[in-house]
Parts: sequence; C-alpha cells; structure tokens
Amino acid sequence: MPTPIALKDITIHPVVEQQGPFFDALGFFPSLTKELLEENSSWLQPSFIDAAGKLILCIQSFVIKTPHHNILVDTCVGNHKPRPTRPFWNMMNSDRFETALKAAGLTFDDIDYVMCTHLHGDHVGWNTRLDNGRWVPTFPKARYIMTERELEHWTQREKDNPASVPWITDSVLPIVAAKRAQLVKNDFAFNEQVQFIPTPGHTIDHFSILVGRPGADALITGDMIHSPLQGKYPDMGMMADYDSPQAGQTRRRVFDRFSEEPTVLCASHFPMPSTCRVHRAGDGYKFVAT
Ligand SMILES: [Zn+2]
Repeated sequence: MPTPIALKDITIHPVVEQQGPFFDALGFFPSLTKELLEENSSWLQPSFIDAAGKLILCIQSFVIKTPHHNILVDTCVGNHKPRPTRPFWNMMNSDRFETALKAAGLTFDDIDYVMCTHLHGDHVGWNTRLDNGRWVPTFPKARYIMTERELEHWTQREKDNPASVPWITDSVLPIVAAKRAQLVKNDFAFNEQVQFIPTPGHTIDHFSILVGRPGADALITGDMIHSPLQGKYPDMGMMADYDSPQAGQTRRRVFDRFSEEPTVLCASHFPMPSTCRVHRAGDGYKFVAT
C-alpha cells in the first residue's frame, strides 16, 4: 500500500486504481523522437518507460484528510463506463478503487468533497456509479468542486459531439443534474490549507492543489505533468493537451516556484511512489525521491 504523506494535522492518502503501460511514449508525446527517447532511455527504463517503449502511468486519486473533512482529489476511470477508444479502460469492473479507499480507512459515505483538477475521463470516472441503469453520485454526501470554465467547455463539447466525450455524459453531467456540483474559479481557496493553483494548458482551466502550510506542504499536480521527461523538457506537450505551449509555460512557472523547496509533489500519473521534490537541472527540472 502506498505510504500516506503526513503534513502536521493533515494527511494525504494515495488511492490507486491502476498502474501499467497504457500508451506508447512516442504517440503520447507528439514531439518526442525515437532519437530523444533513446538518449533518455537509461534513466527512464524500467521505472517510467518499459522495454517496449510504453509509458508507465499510475491512475490514482488522493484523499486529503483534514481535521474537518475528507476531500477526494480526482476519481480515476471508474466501473461499467463505455470507453470504446480506450480498450484498457472500457467497461472496467474492478474492486481496486474501493479496496484502496478502504485501506485509507474510508468508504464512499465518508467523502465530504470531490475536487476535479480537470474533466478528463481518467479523473472523473468514480464521480458516478451505475444504479439500476442510472448514473448516480458515487459519494452520497459529497459536493463536487470543479471550475465553471472547465465545465462550460466540456458541456459544449458534449452538446456538439457526445460520442467523442462519453465520460462527460456518464460521469460529469449527472453530477450537475443531481445539483452536487459546486462551481469555482481555478484559484479557489477552499480554506487556509487547501488552495487551488491555476495550471492551465493540459485542459482549458486545469488546476493543481496546494495542501498544508509553508514548510509542511504538498502540491497535488493533477495532469500539469505526466512523466519526468516533461521535467527535463518542460515544453514537451502530450497528445490530449488543450494548449501545449501554455502547458509548458505552466510547468516552468510552477516548478520554478517549488524548486529547492520542501514542498512534496504528488505527481498523479508518475508511477508509485508518485511523490518527489523538484530541483532545477539544466534548462529544465529533475525530480528527487522524498
Ligand atoms: Zn490524466
């Protein structure tokens, strides 16, 4: 079981649904060439890229346990969800997510808030579960915090072409219909110890979450980065980016701020353990074990 991160009176528990080689690194990062991959293979393999050139990604949520609330950040892929273009996520039926939540001492009933860093399919899946043929909120007591701009963007995409964004249909819009969505800006401060940091680029209004107090804090990145390779080459975009140049600027701004600081990064898609600290290295950044 992954180790929780302790920050004085707050703990952050990783809740892992899956880890595996889902995508070819070359397609995942459109500007990555065979030569550049080869040049970096000695430090990327076997932890971050397997021998076949597939990127090893973790699919996980984080639970922030404060003295007052249990906050679930992102909700993985989910069960029974039709994902025709992603065979490895199509119609999953697994107890891994629920078991991992239990290992953190929690059930679905214990979640007070869900925070969606962005509205991609591997981050909203457990927002809902199937109940007699209907998609209902998985966490019966939770309010789901997302940004207004991100929701607007994806709602329009769903209207224009629902088949292209099935996760919006089954995992986001039912939350809005059930009046569980709380819409905020991407610099929302939930309280003194849970604050959003705008990290746009991967999606239109992506945010990361800074947890704790200076000297004892952690940054839950969401998808502002997918692989340490994007630390070494901050401008390297990934295939699903809304605006790759902006995502590159975001990485530079955020990593400059947290370089050489004690802040622990919880890098959502990095393989377990997904925690690290960031340091400047050359024209980019490197990540070191915590
Ligand atoms: Zn993702």
